[in-house]
Amino acid sequence: MPNYDENCIFCKIIKGEIPSNKVYEDDLCYAFRDINPQAPTHILVVPKTHITSCAEIDDSNAALVGHIFTAIAKIARQEGLTERGFRVISNSGKDAGQTVPHLHFHILAGKDMGEVLV
Ligand code: AMP
Ligand code: ZN
Repeated sequence: MPNYDENCIFCKIIKGEIPSNKVYEDDLCYAFRDINPQAPTHILVVPKTHITSCAEIDDSNAALVGHIFTAIAKIARQEGLTERGFRVISNSGKDAGQTVPHLHFHILAGKDMGEVLV
């Protein structure tokens, strides 16, 4: 059973209470286009249950997180990103600039991002 946070914007997107531009969906995760894209392709992949950030990953949800990465690979193939490549980012907490406290993985692609991470 999913656990939703009623004040969470991404939980509202998963429930369909806020519109989103869907890219991929399965039983466990949902992917949609970022409203403020930082690259020509900018997709967010979220679990369909409320987990606050990478800091909450543990043995109870590790399989779910692994599943999300299989979805990320599917989405990369679906969107034609595998030849040029793509970057996956997850911000956790204040110093990382996390603005939505629901675990999400950014898929960024479509431009040369170089070798510098931050
Ligand atoms: P972060 O700063 O890592 O927490 O990323 C949150 C991301 O969510 C940002 O890139 C926002 O542009 C994006 N975002 C916020 N609200 C929405 C929304 N309603 N639909 C799509 N993306 C959103
Ligand atoms: Zn949530």
